[in-house]
Amino acid sequence: MSARVLVTGASIAGPAAAYWLAEAGFDVTVLERAGALREGGQNIDVRATGREVIRRMGLEEAVRGRNTGELGTRFVNEAGAVISEFPVGGDDGPTAELEILRGALSRLLAEACPGSVQWRFGDEITAVDQDERGAAVTFACGGRERFDLVVIAEGAGSRTRELVFSDEPRERALGMYVTYGTIEREPQDDNWWKFLVVPEARQVSLRPDDVGTMRAMLNFRADTPVLAGLSAYEIRRELCKKFADLGWEVPRILDGFEIADDLYVEWLRQVQAATWHRGRVVLLGDAAWCVTPIGGGGTSLALTGAYVLAAFLSEGDHGQAFARYEQWMRPLVDDAQHLPPGVPRIAAPESWAGVQALRWGTRVAALPLVRTLAGRLTSSPAGGRELPGL
Ligand SMILES: Cc1cc2nc3c(=O)[nH]c(=O)nc-3n(C[C@H](O)[C@H](O)[C@H](O)COP(=O)(O)OP(=O)(O)OC[C@H]3O[C@@H](n4cnc5c(N)ncnc54)[C@H](O)[C@@H]3O)c2cc1C
Repeated sequence: MSARVLVTGASIAGPAAAYWLAEAGFDVTVLERAGALREGGQNIDVRATGREVIRRMGLEEAVRGRNTGELGTRFVNEAGAVISEFPVGGDDGPTAELEILRGALSRLLAEACPGSVQWRFGDEITAVDQDERGAAVTFACGGRERFDLVVIAEGAGSRTRELVFSDEPRERALGMYVTYGTIEREPQDDNWWKFLVVPEARQVSLRPDDVGTMRAMLNFRADTPVLAGLSAYEIRRELCKKFADLGWEVPRILDGFEIADDLYVEWLRQVQAATWHRGRVVLLGDAAWCVTPIGGGGTSLALTGAYVLAAFLSEGDHGQAFARYEQWMRPLVDDAQHLPPGVPRIAAPESWAGVQALRWGTRVAALPLVRTLAGRLTSSPAGGRELPGL
């Protein structure tokens, strides 16, 4: 009989793990707390080994088919004039070749899973009791079942991780709020990602999608979680206060956020778990190592981790497999979590002088020769990494 694996979380890491574990011969059940697959989220990119995993799933063309159509990234000033631009090209640069809405990628991954994978929505784990033969899992909706292994892919705020890894220190706040929302597309919009940095540590971003709307972000630095516990109405009011003095597309974004039903607010925190496995339970994706959009590559790491975990598990002993998975993934995660000195402060300066310096920096970085050199220096180590066989 195949070993039973429970995967919790059906976003990116969860469905990718379900696919590869089923491929490796496991009997897989996916548990998602939401009542259905969550379709929300904005533009995410698939790069390096994440792209190789998508290719091995036979999904590269499907992902390309849902490309957001972004032509590249333009830094603009408060009047909307272009300061510097980074056209799409290869895996380096702010816009990757494979850019897709998070919800679209999640659906493609889930639909790629074989029929043998069982899906349960609207439930979550309340207790995990492990012994040497397996894990007895208790569910919020009632019932208790035994599994051989449990894969926690519940994202940065995972509750099951709290149950199993209760003694772990695991957060590093980056002091930055990111607020996302979908707004209407207007005639002046094109397919470039526009990024505006202004004093008082604020950023504004506007990106195209492939469904006829625009994806906006209003970001600001905050050393404490000042929006925590506020209602959606209060959050909108705080954003209005914070960004009301700005021109360009900002008034329109604020208006759009008034009616956006997908407003998503995140105080950025890296997850730094000392170990990713305990007994028969293993952490995967943001639940293990959330790198935040500032570290970048969270989706590619989730895809890579899902594949690598299944590849090592396919060879037998789960204890050895978990250790090898962690050993394989750690350098990639450490690299993504290791931010250059001054980041994110440098990217969201308080003063006009800081903003001017940043704008000048993007102009230099956009010069073709500098781009090539920087690409060589900054290219992801994951790019040249050989995936284990499965
Ligand atoms: C709705 C949503 C929108 C997002 N939007 C963006 C975005 O715009 N830009 C960006 O860079 N990243 C976004 N992300 C994060 C991005 O998906 C991840 O950083 C990355 O892809 C790694 O994914 P993950 O599967 O590890 O974790 P996540 O994508 O965080 O997914 C975790 C999943 O686990 C589920 N879950 C949580 N708790 C439990 C529980 N106790 N039991 C069962 N299931 C549980 C959640 O509902 C979710 O489906 C978003 C995530 C979500 C869930």
